[in-house]
Amino acid sequence: MSILSDILDHNAQFVARRDYEPFRTNVFPDKKLVVLTCMDTRLTELLPRALNLRNGDAKIIMNAGAIVSHPFGSVMRSMLVAVYELLATEVAVVGHYGCGMTGLSCDGVLQKAIGRGVLPETLQTLEHAGIDLQKWLTGFNSPEDGVRRSVSIIRQHPLLPKDVAVHGLLICPETGRLDLLSDGYANCDR
Ligand SMILES: [Zn+2]
Repeated sequence: MSILSDILDHNAQFVARRDYEPFRTNVFPDKKLVVLTCMDTRLTELLPRALNLRNGDAKIIMNAGAIVSHPFGSVMRSMLVAVYELLATEVAVVGHYGCGMTGLSCDGVLQKAIGRGVLPETLQTLEHAGIDLQKWLTGFNSPEDGVRRSVSIIRQHPLLPKDVAVHGLLICPETGRLDLLSDGYANCDR
């Protein structure tokens, strides 16, 4: 059995049993909150439970490291859609201790890519095309630095209204304990 057939088999039963009923909600986040967090598998269920978020409560964006790598990339676009179209009023960037994006080595990843069949010439071509892989394929020095950098990009975004509170937090991936790094209420106009 493949993972895909497991998923499809389960899904057919899930729908037939009407197991979706407790999850029914609408597109608007009831708590008017956007969470940007890491894709770490330890957080998949732990984070919503630890923050008391249920289906329908928040827009949750996950990527490697909870990083906003560009002010005009897809994470920031998602946040602006959540604020303007879905009426979110607060953002929480939740990094975590022990994040794999700490000290991620671009060269290490590229070596693995070459080991999997990507041609070294391809890397040169990308470089010549002006793509700075060292700057793009990277993480942060510490999870705290990562959260602070993401929070700073979001708060300073020219298209984000100044009354949106942007908080910075770190979560422990074992216990779910939250540490507040930056209180967004102290840094917004409301
Ligand atoms: Zn992580």
